[in-house]
Amino acid sequence: MSNQVGASQVNDQGHLLIGGVDTVDLAKSYGTPLIAYDTANIRQQIRGFKKIFDSAGVNYQISYASKAFATVAMYQLINQENINCDVVSAGELYTAMKAGFPMNKVSFHGNNKSVDELALALDQRIGCIIIDNFHELHLLDQLTTARKQHINVMLRVTPGISAHTHEYVMTGQEDSKFGFDIKSGQADSAIKQVLSAEYLDPIGAHCHIGSQIFATEGFIMAAQKMMDLILKWRNEYNFDAPVVNLGGGFGIRYTDDETPLHPEEFSQAILEEMKKIASKNQINLPEIWIEPGRSIVGNAGTSLYTIGSHKEIPGVRKYVAVDGGMGDNIRPALYQAKYETVLANKINAPVTQTVSIAGKYCESGDMLAWNQELPDTHSGDILAVLDTGAYGYSMASNYNRNPRPAVVFCENGKSQLVVKREQLEDLTRLDVPLNN
Ligand SMILES: *Cc1c(COP(=O)(O)O)cnc(C)c1O
Repeated sequence: MSNQVGASQVNDQGHLLIGGVDTVDLAKSYGTPLIAYDTANIRQQIRGFKKIFDSAGVNYQISYASKAFATVAMYQLINQENINCDVVSAGELYTAMKAGFPMNKVSFHGNNKSVDELALALDQRIGCIIIDNFHELHLLDQLTTARKQHINVMLRVTPGISAHTHEYVMTGQEDSKFGFDIKSGQADSAIKQVLSAEYLDPIGAHCHIGSQIFATEGFIMAAQKMMDLILKWRNEYNFDAPVVNLGGGFGIRYTDDETPLHPEEFSQAILEEMKKIASKNQINLPEIWIEPGRSIVGNAGTSLYTIGSHKEIPGVRKYVAVDGGMGDNIRPALYQAKYETVLANKINAPVTQTVSIAGKYCESGDMLAWNQELPDTHSGDILAVLDTGAYGYSMASNYNRNPRPAVVFCENGKSQLVVKREQLEDLTRLDVPLNN
């Protein structure tokens, strides 16, 4: 059994528990594949990020990067925890609207926001638009001038830092599709244009240096670069940016050999560095914003599957196939992401085999996990893939016309369906038959 599963997560029958709910019961009641969230874990992560800033009494915002997992119930849950959120599309914004999420606590990201998306954001009077490029800056200037409507904006800049991570998910270095480059002066000319735009109200600068970051150094370097930029803007353009937004990317544990920092440790390091730089330069500490996504939901989510077929190639490998795969979790295929698995209905049974977990999709790359040490597996057993809460369901597709799974929230021994399982009729809902 993976040592990620504690004794408190196993019941007398040897079944895995999520939020105190028996996963075998979950599979029976809701079917599989199923994504089950331990919502107390989500709350704990959020509170971890907040704690240090709260006790220091400084101004800050935690803005959940909702692309990690965005559903109506999730926006409601983060609103219960009283934090902000980031959206990156009209679809995420719409979902937040449907959840009754306060629009003044929403920030809008993206490197190619459409006119319609910007107009929706303005209609909803969202808290802040994070401008990514000159095209967007001009569009937003035109739209706000035509409407005579003010909007808070931040500039996304690339500070030229590449935090240690997988190259597919690296966004902070200079050669990035995101943001205004600082070194070549793009960020300076962008802030000049914003300052001269009548209806764009600049509140600060934003950067996002990468993903799955396991050390505080990257954030400390980013804090320095961002504070340098803000001091420069202050001296050269007389613009005193009230906010420094350091983005997300806080690493989480997917496998036993990873040792991530706690949210508190990231917050602490960022706060200390920001305070140090502010006092050295004798300026007020700017409001610090961070945008955790994965670290809020990643470890809280577990994917439950039913085991079907087995294939053994003697001396080579044994495959165990489940009833889901890349349609509900594309990360192994896309990023070579690693996960750990347990046999949820026999969690204490002795390990007898090393197997690789195959999905049911028509792609050889459709694997969920490699070389898992598991007890004997039989058709009908429930396999749990751990820590699938971030970028799993949110990247789900209907490839091979498989319906997307259901999602449940579990807390205090109770479960609640928050996303229904897609049905076959949903799959043809948008199809238009030939008319002759
Ligand atoms: C994706 C993203 C985040 C969240 O990243 P995580 O690795 O999930 O914490 C934060 N900010 C921006 C701008 C992003 O694009």
